[in-house]
Amino acid sequence: MYIDSHAHIFSEDYQNDRDEVLRRARDAGVESIVVPGTNLATSREAVALAEKYDFIYACVGFHPHDASKATTEHLREIEELSAHRRVVAIGEIGLDYHYDFSPRDQQVGVFESQIQMAIRRDLPIVIHTRESLPDAMEIVRAAVANSPGWMSRRLNVHSRRPSPKGVFHCFSGTAEEAWSLLDLGFFVSYPGIVTFKNSPAAATLEQTGFDHILLETDSPYMAPVPLRGKRNEPANIRLIGRKIAEIFGMTEEDVARAARFNAKKLFAIGPPDPPQIVYKLRNSLYLNITIRCNADCYFCDRKGEAIVKGHNLKIEREPTTQEVIQAIGDPTRYDEIVFCGYGEPTIRLDVLKEVAAWVKSKGGKVRLNTDGHGSVINHRNIVPELVGLVDSVSVSLNSVDPKQYGEMMAIDGERFHRAMIDFARECKKYFPEVVMTVVGMNEIDTEAAREFVEREIGVELRVRPYF
Ligand code: SF4
Ligand SMILES: [Zn+2]
Repeated sequence: MYIDSHAHIFSEDYQNDRDEVLRRARDAGVESIVVPGTNLATSREAVALAEKYDFIYACVGFHPHDASKATTEHLREIEELSAHRRVVAIGEIGLDYHYDFSPRDQQVGVFESQIQMAIRRDLPIVIHTRESLPDAMEIVRAAVANSPGWMSRRLNVHSRRPSPKGVFHCFSGTAEEAWSLLDLGFFVSYPGIVTFKNSPAAATLEQTGFDHILLETDSPYMAPVPLRGKRNEPANIRLIGRKIAEIFGMTEEDVARAARFNAKKLFAIGPPDPPQIVYKLRNSLYLNITIRCNADCYFCDRKGEAIVKGHNLKIEREPTTQEVIQAIGDPTRYDEIVFCGYGEPTIRLDVLKEVAAWVKSKGGKVRLNTDGHGSVINHRNIVPELVGLVDSVSVSLNSVDPKQYGEMMAIDGERFHRAMIDFARECKKYFPEVVMTVVGMNEIDTEAAREFVEREIGVELRVRPYF
């Protein structure tokens, strides 16, 4: 299920077949469409569409193209309109230095006053930039700095990331710019340009992952390949989703789910999805048997929202063996069944062993993803107990340096690093497939890690993307 986070359905391009376009969107799995206004008239049209169709949501605001026409009275009316129950954001607003249809000082003024409007109304903003990203970022950064509580009243989450305040639509910046916007509480949104040949947007996306993005068609513009140049429509969002899935070797479903989660969160659309004890990524089924962990890694969102690619893993109660087995169904339908949630599975060793034994008895393949502290946690060498139950093991190395390891995980670095290495060595003795992983962050020397793992343990190192 997709959310098209940016489509100008009020456009005249749809005057003859709007209902058909919307029907095609629904048939293609578009669950909701967010329609941003560009001036007072189109903002009203967006609201009218949202009143007519229960899957459409509206944004109201003045596009930079129309900034010179935005009188104080117009802006007051926009603010009044923003109180409508179907309005989910102020937008689209921003700066366009490519066309310069409005003088730049007016663009800046209208952009700033609409940001203040969004802050007063506690709504997110939808930002348009063209050849103006640095200036727009500067203005947004100043607004956030002067209003740290913006959006936080609406969201009862304590994520590792700040509460979302808006989206840079049709994002065309660098990976560095994308990360700094995420750190500020903004999403970036990608339209059909990611399907274009040699697209810089696709290159940025490759570096930042798709965990923190929104998807949009920007209809009627920006039609994705192979429809480039034609009138665009929300149903084409699938071509964008498929392209991104292809870039990452994931499924279209994975990409759609992650982006849908972010759009729901940003625009406060619908209730959050319930927590899951099993979740599917690619064609593997992951088991979320605990959210407890003996460590507290600073890069881990276990105590925050605990979301993995749009799957909510924030379980409030640990499932029983029977509940997990029931949720798995037929394990042979999957490439593998993986013990991996936002918690350390060996904390529940009995459940792990019972479920794994059942999966093996049904002909499934089992992998254990672990921090490698299971033997310390259970006060005995647990590796021999897993023989026959587990086919492969993945141990988080995190760092070759015990001091850094301890700091990253908020544990006794010397003691647990040694325990983790011993655990990996033990696994190497018993299991044909053992890998160790590090998270690809700047502060981690992945080459040193690779050399260490190959030389000291004799297994392969995998770098997990830090998204
Ligand atoms: S070991 Fe894994 S689950 Fe535990 S805090 Fe670290 S990243 Fe999170
Ligand atoms: Zn737009």
